Amino acid sequence: MSESTATDHHPDARPKIRLYVDGPLATGQAVGLDHERAHYLRHVMRRDRGDAIAVFNGRDGEWRATIDGFGKGWCSLTVDGRLRAQTAAPDLWLLFAPLKRGRIDTVAEKASELGASRIWPVFTRRTDPHRVNLDRLRANAVEAAEQCERLTVPELAEPVPLDRALAGWPADRVLFFCAESGSAIPVAEAVRAHATRPAAFLVGPEGGFDTRELDAIRNLPFVVPVGLGPRILRADTAAFAALACWQALAGDWAAGGDARPPYRSPDAPATPTS
Ligand code: SAH
Repeated sequence: MSESTATDHHPDARPKIRLYVDGPLATGQAVGLDHERAHYLRHVMRRDRGDAIAVFNGRDGEWRATIDGFGKGWCSLTVDGRLRAQTAAPDLWLLFAPLKRGRIDTVAEKASELGASRIWPVFTRRTDPHRVNLDRLRANAVEAAEQCERLTVPELAEPVPLDRALAGWPADRVLFFCAESGSAIPVAEAVRAHATRPAAFLVGPEGGFDTRELDAIRNLPFVVPVGLGPRILRADTAAFAALACWQALAGDWAAGGDARPPYRSPDAPATPTS
């Protein structure tokens, strides 16, 4: 199978399937896929030996790889060449009170698409449910990252009580506290004022924060209460709206439509990432 046809230089010649892998990526590197991904490639997408897919690991950019073979519960690939260099990703965290199944899955998926670097479930006094299936959320976030052409996957941080997350807070990171009542700065104004700082948003549970919690949060030096307009949004809507505002005003949407690193032929020598 020819690997260096003229169509390789066309952006559409890149493989349609994109998978996240853990291990290192470099030309000639052998990559093994886990059971789930092997099954997906072979039985869902009906790919075969010799077919090309794209792989990324969050560190080394995106690469084209060819399927060497399948076995029971595994698939092996060989990396052909790099399609896109790794680029810096926005430093944006989302802290949110866990929601019921369905909605919480959507939060992981959409926050990943919207470029969050860390998704962090935090338990507040009125949080219901009290448990989180982190593996399922991580799978949703990774699948969204594969589909939306991110070069990183968001970190799914271990769920903790909100006060513990706040106690260890890094002082340089601004925490935009989404406040549907009480004093708050309009979100656009607040984001613009802190555009150069690493950032995080905190969204409360469907029942809202309780009064003691509100007082404690508002008194923290790194907290900026922000408003998302006059309507009370559901928690998931508030999270997506907040992330979108930040990306548009301070994140990688601000760079315009060509912000994604371009695809290149995997036959060209890989340029070093800086
Ligand atoms: N306090 C309400 C609803 C909470 S809405 C109640 O009593 O039921 C869930 C979360 O979404 C809130 O804690 C807040 O973080 C966020 N939110 C919803 N609407 C908002 C708005 N207009 N501005 C800022 N944050 C909002």
